Amino acid sequence: MKTTTRVCIIGGGVVGCSVAYHLTRLGWSDVLLLERSELTSGSTWHAAGGFHTLNGDTNMAALQGYTIRLYRELEEITGLSCGLHHVGGLTLAQDRDRMDMLLAERAKHRYMGLETEIIGPDEIARRAPVTNTAGLLGALYDPLDGHLDPSGTTHAYAKAARIGGATIATHCMVHETIPRADGTWTVVTDKGTIHAEHVVNAAGLWAREVAAMAGTYLPLLPMEHQYLVTEEVPEIAEIIAAGGEHPHVMNPAGECYLRQEGRGLCIGFYEQPCRPWAVDGTPWEFGHELLPDDFDKIADSIEFAYRRFPALERAGIKSVIHGPFTFAPDGNPLIGPVPGLRNYWSACAVMAGFSQGGGVGLMLAQWMVESECERDVSAMDVARFGDWITPGYTRAKVVENYQKRFSVSYPNEELPAARPFRTTPIYDIFDQLGAVWGHQYGLEVANYFAEEGEARLETPSFRRSNAFEATRREVRAVREAVGINEVHNFGKYRVTGANARAWLDRIMAGRIPRPGRVTLSPMLSPRGRLWGDFTISCLDEQTFHLTASYGAQGWHMRWFEHNAAPDVRVENISDRLTGFQIAGPRAREVLVACTRDPLGEMKFMDVRRATIGMVDCLVQRLSYTGDLGYEIYCDPMAQRALWEVLWSEGRKQAMKPFGMRAMMSLRLDRFFGAWLREFSPDYTPGETGMDRFIAWSKKADFIGRAAAEAEREAGSPRVLVPFAVEAEDADVHGDEPVWIDGEVAGFCTSGGYSHTTDTSLALALIPRAAAREGLMAQIEILGQRRPARLLGTPLFDPRGARLHG
Ligand SMILES: Cc1cc2nc3c(=O)[nH]c(=O)nc-3n(C[C@H](O)[C@H](O)[C@H](O)COP(=O)(O)OP(=O)(O)OC[C@H]3O[C@@H](n4cnc5c(N)ncnc54)[C@H](O)[C@@H]3O)c2cc1C
Repeated sequence: MKTTTRVCIIGGGVVGCSVAYHLTRLGWSDVLLLERSELTSGSTWHAAGGFHTLNGDTNMAALQGYTIRLYRELEEITGLSCGLHHVGGLTLAQDRDRMDMLLAERAKHRYMGLETEIIGPDEIARRAPVTNTAGLLGALYDPLDGHLDPSGTTHAYAKAARIGGATIATHCMVHETIPRADGTWTVVTDKGTIHAEHVVNAAGLWAREVAAMAGTYLPLLPMEHQYLVTEEVPEIAEIIAAGGEHPHVMNPAGECYLRQEGRGLCIGFYEQPCRPWAVDGTPWEFGHELLPDDFDKIADSIEFAYRRFPALERAGIKSVIHGPFTFAPDGNPLIGPVPGLRNYWSACAVMAGFSQGGGVGLMLAQWMVESECERDVSAMDVARFGDWITPGYTRAKVVENYQKRFSVSYPNEELPAARPFRTTPIYDIFDQLGAVWGHQYGLEVANYFAEEGEARLETPSFRRSNAFEATRREVRAVREAVGINEVHNFGKYRVTGANARAWLDRIMAGRIPRPGRVTLSPMLSPRGRLWGDFTISCLDEQTFHLTASYGAQGWHMRWFEHNAAPDVRVENISDRLTGFQIAGPRAREVLVACTRDPLGEMKFMDVRRATIGMVDCLVQRLSYTGDLGYEIYCDPMAQRALWEVLWSEGRKQAMKPFGMRAMMSLRLDRFFGAWLREFSPDYTPGETGMDRFIAWSKKADFIGRAAAEAEREAGSPRVLVPFAVEAEDADVHGDEPVWIDGEVAGFCTSGGYSHTTDTSLALALIPRAAAREGLMAQIEILGQRRPARLLGTPLFDPRGARLHG
């Protein structure tokens, strides 16, 4: 066996083999895949082999489309069969919310180039005759859905990897992975020791155990899953006799999926009384066995399935497959460089290996070989969970995720499991004020404040929810007097040292402020895409304070560490600093009344240290609400004391607390973008208007400079623009297509209702050539094309007098 390798992949399931193939395809042929048994010896061998493109995240859906299209190519390269059945698939809807979700998905597919269609009950009966259509409103049909042979497909990936130069060693168990001082790894196996430049953990069911060998925890858990295969079904035999094949049918209301298997049917369940498997660790001796049949667990689901697919009740059961496979807390894969380790990569928690395995392999290989993926992979980045995550949290969330696998997912939904978990010192005060809580990155965040007699729960909906009136009240309070909210959910970093300014000048594309001032800056990837959206304060020449998206902490710190330099210290202080933001025309009066420091003099984008009441604070004069406002940061131990003084002075000025719903409405008034909506690694500074914050004249060769300059020279073909939408009871959330002259020409990045101006607003990326003030377009919301007018200047405070005044 080889004793040195550029990449050592641990695990020969579908995911490990896909990673090996994609690495060789991108030119890294020195790849060694180690498998403790035969290939497919984890979850892979007992998969039902179904594949589909449907996924709430557009990038995940696109990668699923890539995976499915790859199979024919693999067959051509290897001459092996993947056992493909491209039969198409239907997702059924039997209530309005499900139909809304499918309409939103269909709309999204228009600009993704996916040829799905919405069909009615008669067409469902024609295409999927085993379905009882009683009570159905319609279905989404996807011609790409189908199924394959899991083993054949894994072996095809493996052969394609071997053709590309990879070595695959089976019956080779990895016992240890030991980091070396130069960032490379010693991999100890039962067949000898290997020196690897990179290690990829693709150990599926054993990913936790393999991660522990490197001293790290990956938040995933196996769940038990069961599907049944029936004896011959006459209706299926008839279809076969006529030369056809029955399509897949996803019946979310019954939490099941169904497809043809031979001359019978195969049906699998995501049952509510589900069970995690091997919570405290996957046994090494587990391999090619199944779990005992458990009909009790799926009894209700089977009853339901008989009503929707009556042919099932008449068919005998031929076999039962009951096996475990892994999930992350949000059900998406965990891929990328594992934070805190060098040259150690995760390709784990892939719960739909045959829909996602190709895309996961491609993204990880691009990340390793080219240092950057071609699209935003934050939805599956292993860094999206912070070091606050625990097995207890993972377990509660994984169970919830399994149970909700087929539930409608609403844009305003807040999932309840494992909450409240992380809270700030004023949690109970906000709770008593009526906070309706959401959560972000494990942290409780007030979405809005319910008044006496109002429900303390926002109704999940694609349309305007019961939070609409409360949000309006809070927006008015900010615009007419003053509002207060926490700043706990900002990512915060302290950058110190003799080299701090020079380092920031290289990492950030924007201008680094002088002492006492604040600037806004994009952070770019080497290819000039948006890597971050930062507010930078200079406290003194060697001390800088950065704020950015709270959920991107893992991503940001990994990037900062990757680009570490001497004489600079970067600390993640996100949870070591909390405080409040106050905003509105009376914000200055409140602040001045709380301090003896001359904070009334602060100009827009000033930063000062000050004592507010008795609390040492850092005060920045800026506000994402687009109004006169201040961000006031303090030690969490003093947050309650800071609250007391701000609230008691604030009440004299009609202060009201406001939550994230109001914040997102307020920022729209001024067309401010948000991270992962308008600003994400999918977009560039030129497209999003972030180029106005690039310091073109600075001497530093900041990361992404050449690419940003090239874009500046050539101009970006598309541009972010605001629209006023003639909406009815549903506003834009994001991903809705924009129709111009009868064609889908762009898509929305986000939107919502501007309560200040009583307008439904959308931000969208459209071709630059079409972007002119007054353009009349249409935005498709829940299947209806709503007229939308392109706006020039913000409808609220167009010259920014409030913000700057
Ligand atoms: C009942 C059931 C039905 C399913 N149906 C579908 C479906 O229809 N469609 C779909 O897309 N997905 C389905 N899945 C999920 C699918 O099986 C998984 O997504 C997929 O198999 C994950 O593959 P993997 O390569 O990540 O992990 P695994 O298949 O678990 O592979 C990991 C491999 O790593 C090896 N390994 C672990 N530790 C070591 C070590 N220390 N040294 C060397 N080797 C090691 C193991 O032996 C194993 O072969 C189903 C799963 C189940 C249980």
